[in-house]
Amino acid sequence: MTPKISRFFAEHRPATPCLVVDLDVVESRYQALHHNLPSARIYYAIKANPAPQILRRLTELGSSFDAASIEEIRMCLAAGATPDRISYGNTVKKVSAIREAHELGIDLFVFDSMEELAKLAEHAPGARVFCRLTVENEGADWPLSRKFGTTTTHARELMLRAATMGLRPYGLSFHVGSQQTSVTAYETAIARASALYRDLQDEGLDLQMLNLGGGFPARYREDVPTIGQFCTAISQALTEHFHNDLPDILVEPGRYMVGEAGVVSSEVVLVSRRGGAPTDPRWVYLDIGRFGGLAETEGEAIRYTFRTPHDESDPDHSPCVLAGPSCDGVDIMYEKARIPLPNSLRDGDRVDILATGAYVSTYCSTGFNGFPPLAEHYI
Ligand SMILES: *Cc1c(COP(=O)(O)O)cnc(C)c1O
Repeated sequence: MTPKISRFFAEHRPATPCLVVDLDVVESRYQALHHNLPSARIYYAIKANPAPQILRRLTELGSSFDAASIEEIRMCLAAGATPDRISYGNTVKKVSAIREAHELGIDLFVFDSMEELAKLAEHAPGARVFCRLTVENEGADWPLSRKFGTTTTHARELMLRAATMGLRPYGLSFHVGSQQTSVTAYETAIARASALYRDLQDEGLDLQMLNLGGGFPARYREDVPTIGQFCTAISQALTEHFHNDLPDILVEPGRYMVGEAGVVSSEVVLVSRRGGAPTDPRWVYLDIGRFGGLAETEGEAIRYTFRTPHDESDPDHSPCVLAGPSCDGVDIMYEKARIPLPNSLRDGDRVDILATGAYVSTYCSTGFNGFPPLAEHYI
């Protein structure tokens, strides 16, 4: 929690649940990545948090954007980004969205299948296209590999075809999986992509770009490698595989840019032992849960840190099951791995959930059980 966020809570006492994001943290993340990987252009993955305040701040800093839908493209344009700074990075796009993006001047599209390539050729003729490769997502807490990407063999075929379809085969991309905690994931992926890249150049394609995707982690409970460590590994791998002939490098950070910039403030609704016996598990129900924005607790994959007013004053902590306020049985955040919380925790207490700036605000339902969407404050 930054001093700015603490001050905001103290001065404004906002109603819970709410998300407070410190835009200066987003800015310093952008600068740190830019500094550590100066050869790369940063395409912020909007889906992590599309708040206009974030998009405007990043636009001012010179960032580009990775958009997943026509709506996200419109948000970037509204924030002042020009079409040449926007990549349409979803391999699954509606025809109407492709057409509108093309008309708006977007000139960079991803694909991972012949079927999508055919749509691009028809509805975005002449556009620059890049093919997404499947790579290992080992080391990622939130993998993305099953749904996207194709093999190097098929990508080779598709890129060669793209050139004959009135499109401009421009480069290759991959995504090592979100909340990736292993720097070697990038090295392995760069090795695989670079082999195909050179192969396609030998076939006469004028490739110019390698897109390293996102994946850089936020710190939740455990330490993660620094952005410097990731960038050193990436730079070394790029030099090893491309020597002096480096393509344009794109990175698409989402979680890294905004995750640690945000804190959710919530309230304890109920603390109970439903069997009545002291040996029964202690359940803590918050006013935010899986449907209020904490969707990434699915499978207990993303492990948030919780702060209560009693952390220091009460030395007695015991493990709790943590659940949301809704009437849905799956609305449980942590049950297998219980969360140690102070025994003095009571209903009405505030609980802060750290590093919730990414993949929270937009994951909340629009009114399930009548609960309003998560309030957001950008400071
Ligand atoms: C989600 C996504 C990202 C961002 O991933 P993070 O793990 O949040 O950095 C980047 N690129 C694409 C194509 C994505 O779908």
